[in-house]
Amino acid sequence: MDAQKITNLRVKLMKLAKSLRVSVIPPDADLEKPQGVRDDTVLFEGKSLHRRRIVLLTPKCTSASCLMCPLPNEALDNRTITPEQIIKQYDSCFGQPNDHEIETISLYTNGNFFADNEIPEVVKEHIYRHISTTNAKYVLVESLPQFVNEQKLALAKKYLKDKVLITAIGLQSSSDLVRQISVNTTCTQESFEKAYHLSRKFGFDIQAFLMIKPPFLTETEAINDCVDSIGYLYQLGIKNPTLCACRAAPNTVLDILRLDGKYHSPWLWTVAEVMTRSAEKYPQSVPMLVINELLSEKNLDSTVSHNCDECSASVIQALVRFNADRNVAALKSVTHTCYQNYLQERKTEDEFASTHSLVWRVEDFLTTHSL
Ligand code: SF4
Ligand SMILES: [Zn+2]
Repeated sequence: MDAQKITNLRVKLMKLAKSLRVSVIPPDADLEKPQGVRDDTVLFEGKSLHRRRIVLLTPKCTSASCLMCPLPNEALDNRTITPEQIIKQYDSCFGQPNDHEIETISLYTNGNFFADNEIPEVVKEHIYRHISTTNAKYVLVESLPQFVNEQKLALAKKYLKDKVLITAIGLQSSSDLVRQISVNTTCTQESFEKAYHLSRKFGFDIQAFLMIKPPFLTETEAINDCVDSIGYLYQLGIKNPTLCACRAAPNTVLDILRLDGKYHSPWLWTVAEVMTRSAEKYPQSVPMLVINELLSEKNLDSTVSHNCDECSASVIQALVRFNADRNVAALKSVTHTCYQNYLQERKTEDEFASTHSLVWRVEDFLTTHSL
């Protein structure tokens, strides 16, 4: 593959992605209040844990490059926020009578917890110091892997000691080309592996995210890409990847592609095939599908993965059951008349893809959307 060509495409994609970013945070938003805080329960290593889920209002993802990602739109644009304001947001999430029941804390920032320009070191230190006083055993943050380094993890370790810091990292795909021009992420395989090994060295962990059907891929390519990525992670020792079916959200490059009629979010049949094929190929791997990403009522502004109106709800229910019981035969037995339309669409797409490479598709898109 011509590296210069890929670089040129990425420059154009980057420009386009950034030009579309529009922060949905109102100009008069209170910078001392988090975007959200609530308690729920999460399943972790077979156990149900009491979680406090916090979304802080912070500067947007430093990279903000991914073609399908709406998170930079849900963070602050160029507004100044002080470390004290972020600390006040965090502190306001505690001090409740049931604080002692918290077993795990998920701390989302719509970007990179380890990037100091997003979350200053003094804020990280304050957060670690506080968490060290709680009963929580786990704390989850999210970050691109290039911001995870020895010094950052050593600071966390100093306060968290035997608590487990889990960094959610969006690898999205194990294919370099898919990450480069289909997702347009700045996450590399090298930085991902480095962050993973470093985290393990400190007794911490990572949560690896994979995407089902990133932009420009066909349904068949999406299945192969995700199953291969699950295999890659399995070889690396990561047996619990988190899978997100791609949704098209406003103010993203993906949404333009969708409006051009060149992308639709994956059929649920594709999602089901990823689950069954990976279970057959890597039975020791237990990928978990994020069900919320499939629900239109939770993603009102987006186009989510779906089948026809008659069977979507029941296929989603089957996927919920599969997340819990891993029963391949049961998931395979789910069927509906629209499955034939799906197969037909795949056949047409496969024929097209056999003569139009991924690079060609991206170039073609950019001929009309380049800035
Ligand atoms: S997926 Fe992660 S790295 Fe990519 S733009 Fe979204 S927040 Fe940033
Ligand atoms: Zn159907």
